[in-house]
Amino acid sequence: MAFDECTEHPAEHGHTRDSMEMTLRWARRCKEYFEAHKHDVPWYSPDLPDQALFGIVQGGMYADLRRESAERTVEAGFPGYAIGGLSVGEPREKTREMIAAALEVLPKDKPRYVMGVGYPEEIIQYAAMGVDMMDCVLPTRAARHGLLFTSEGRLNIKNTRFAQDQGPPDAACKCKVCARYTRAYLRHLFVSSEPLAGILNTMHNLAFYLDTMRAVRHAISLGDLSGILAGSVSTSA
Ligand SMILES: [Zn+2]
Repeated sequence: MAFDECTEHPAEHGHTRDSMEMTLRWARRCKEYFEAHKHDVPWYSPDLPDQALFGIVQGGMYADLRRESAERTVEAGFPGYAIGGLSVGEPREKTREMIAAALEVLPKDKPRYVMGVGYPEEIIQYAAMGVDMMDCVLPTRAARHGLLFTSEGRLNIKNTRFAQDQGPPDAACKCKVCARYTRAYLRHLFVSSEPLAGILNTMHNLAFYLDTMRAVRHAISLGDLSGILAGSVSTSA
């Protein structure tokens, strides 16, 4: 990833523009340095593809700046493009609006990556909009706080109602945790502050996210995302 400034939120238009201009200057400098030095790494081999340096679209919560940032980052020329500076406290509708503004400009034949999102139903929506890649701390951080993402929605494992629950965390999940452990056991680990609680919750949440993306890829291969969009369970607060 090229060096960028994640503009704080909220921020005035003028300040956001200045911040975006700095990110654009950095993008060009990063690219120049990267092109000159990309083979100066111990693992360099002519048989391996070069690493791909992505440019990052900024522009805060202003659609005009998002479009301009995307246009000028594309002018600089990168093998892939990221949309950064989102999920910084803005409403979800605004996040979607900013992603849409950048996607209008970013080329469809290059990977398009939204940084730092999201809940399972959001990653389905963004994929349907044309986003190829996403990354987020949410599945692991939520796991450490006892939050499980399941096919039935969000589940807080510390809840007393799971104390005697002998069912798996998610009956529809094929992960190792769901195959072996009960909700009651995961709750016991969590309320006992056992580090294993965070590990097992994380394994399940990552499996759920991977299953979600597998389902998205399958729907894309069938050319129809309407079913998966309609079936996505809201897991946000
Ligand atoms: Zn599972």
